[in-house]
Amino acid sequence: MQLNKSIWASPSDYFRQNQPDRPVCFFAPKVLHASLDEFQQGFPGLVTYAVKANPLREVLENLVAAGLSGFDVASPVEISQVRAVCQNAVLHYNNPVRSRAELEFARDAGVASYSVDSFTELAKLAEIVPPNGVEISVRLKLPVTGAAYDFGAKFGATPEKCGALLAKVADLGFTPSMTFHPGTQCKDPAAWQSYIFAADQIARRAGVTLSRLNVGGGFPSHRQGAQPELAPIFDAIRSATRTAFGTKPPDLVCEPGRAMVAEAFTLAPRIKAITDEGDVFLNDGTYGALAELPTIEPNERIVVLGSSGAPVGGRHKRRMVFGPTCDSLDVLPEKTLLPDDIAEGDHVLFHGMGAYSYSVATGFNGYGQVQTVTVQDLEPHLLARTAPQSR
Ligand SMILES: *Cc1c(COP(=O)(O)O)cnc(C)c1O
Repeated sequence: MQLNKSIWASPSDYFRQNQPDRPVCFFAPKVLHASLDEFQQGFPGLVTYAVKANPLREVLENLVAAGLSGFDVASPVEISQVRAVCQNAVLHYNNPVRSRAELEFARDAGVASYSVDSFTELAKLAEIVPPNGVEISVRLKLPVTGAAYDFGAKFGATPEKCGALLAKVADLGFTPSMTFHPGTQCKDPAAWQSYIFAADQIARRAGVTLSRLNVGGGFPSHRQGAQPELAPIFDAIRSATRTAFGTKPPDLVCEPGRAMVAEAFTLAPRIKAITDEGDVFLNDGTYGALAELPTIEPNERIVVLGSSGAPVGGRHKRRMVFGPTCDSLDVLPEKTLLPDDIAEGDHVLFHGMGAYSYSVATGFNGYGQVQTVTVQDLEPHLLARTAPQSR
């Protein structure tokens, strides 16, 4: 019998020896370590990780092993997921709406940082969590553009209301801070700057000195075109903070989800069928790990590997790509560029799929289960070789 190999060199190496009928998600820990490094070297403050982007145990373990100790959590389940890999992790509960039972759970788990955007939720919090040493960040929303979609539609208070909330937080004896989220997959550094200048104005007018300013997640990952750069965003955050707050700035915190974890995973559904019209059916779709494709910009970082593990070539053309369920909504939003020579049984690799992929997959129609396979390298060079130069 062959030895069971648990870490493979690459997706091609894996597909040379395995032809699973279920979608596979390849995880390269070294890529996750590199993303964490980029944040820790470049971001001018404390780096935490937003667990919801990908709560896989291996992700949390690798981040903790590489020195990360702060996490943004949004529910008791996420609190437990982090505690299971790191007893003394620092948890920021930045979902601004919580039930009483959730607050009691968080308090008992030692959570000492929360966000709020309403007086009713602040009062509820103050009834359950004693103020000593506990930070409350008031969440600001502004009509700012630049992101793939607007997070202010659900959470955040207007500047006027933030001022009143901050004063109340300080009155109640909590440590006052502020937070915002510019919206996910945000490529415009100016979005962060608008928020930082506004936060300074709000705190000044409220007569409150901010302990910290949490600049959210929202940092972009690579889905199409040139790789978005984080350094200009970090520079914009650094310079806006200096300009706005002068010599006594609040400590900065960030809580990336997407940009921390996206690049470390390559999703590989398999071609189940190619129809008479040339349309493609995959064994994963928009009810599975490709859930985000209709709401965020398309992912065009696609490589096809044949059942021997070798890249499939040929000229490229756009095709309809369907998922496996019987719902007609289960289709990729734009026609997808795929090589001419694809065949049933090939594996379609989507790079940069670590965030909001199988963490949001449903089990609809009996699909949606993805197997994670650890690899040393995701082979981004195959993409450079096979990607077409133009549409
Ligand atoms: C979702 C979320 C994040 C992470 O956002 P990304 O766009 O994935 O970086 C960070 N903070 C809060 C409060 C969130 O809700």
